[in-house]
Amino acid sequence: MSFPNQLLLQNVAWAHEAGRRDPALFDRLRQGQQPKVLWIGCADSRVPAEIVTGARPGDIFVHRNIANLFLPHDDNTMSVLEYALYVLRVSDVVVCGHNGCGGVRAALEPPGHNMPRVEHRIGVLRQLARRHGAELAAIACLENRADRLAELNVIEQARTLETLPLVRNALPRVCVHAWIFDVRNGLIRDLARAIDPSVDTGATGTSTADVTTMPLSQVSWPDAHGGAAGQHVDQRSAAGR
Ligand SMILES: [Zn+2]
Repeated sequence: MSFPNQLLLQNVAWAHEAGRRDPALFDRLRQGQQPKVLWIGCADSRVPAEIVTGARPGDIFVHRNIANLFLPHDDNTMSVLEYALYVLRVSDVVVCGHNGCGGVRAALEPPGHNMPRVEHRIGVLRQLARRHGAELAAIACLENRADRLAELNVIEQARTLETLPLVRNALPRVCVHAWIFDVRNGLIRDLARAIDPSVDTGATGTSTADVTTMPLSQVSWPDAHGGAAGQHVDQRSAAGR
């Protein structure tokens, strides 16, 4: 059996099981969608938004592309955002990157593979890598360097989103989140929380509420040597990855 035919069979099984578990599911879906979150993620097959978050159909409005790039001059991404904010009225926008990202890694290597559109697309990543050249150059291992660039990219995309009038003027106010999915263990790391170790412990300092509502543009992100996210990178480097 071909894999597409296998997928069709699996779909029948899924529809049957989903209807059995939640008899009202398809009635709800028939009436429309009210997702609370816009997810901007990588097209990588290992990071399916709904599966890794345990979400149900109707929960997340999803846009995925190579290296989870949000480009304001791109009608594709902007139309998704416009619809999500002003029709669906989502309350949160999540930019989720991941480690081991081929698109991010390609931006650290010479152009090749005769893929001009991909190359054009990741041009912004090459610029980002140049802006953080000193920090990235200090990470010897290419994999770890790419993983750090993936973090910087998520932060960059989230910041870009936060500065857009479309987002700033949205009512009710929209929260933008910067997340990284770890393909090695399936866990998602919240980069905003990672900047302050006290957030999850309830210790003095920035509270969880402060962080989750703090505009990313006001957050000072540590470099690879100065803060929690950076410590994460260094630990991996020390582990010889
Ligand atoms: Zn990727």
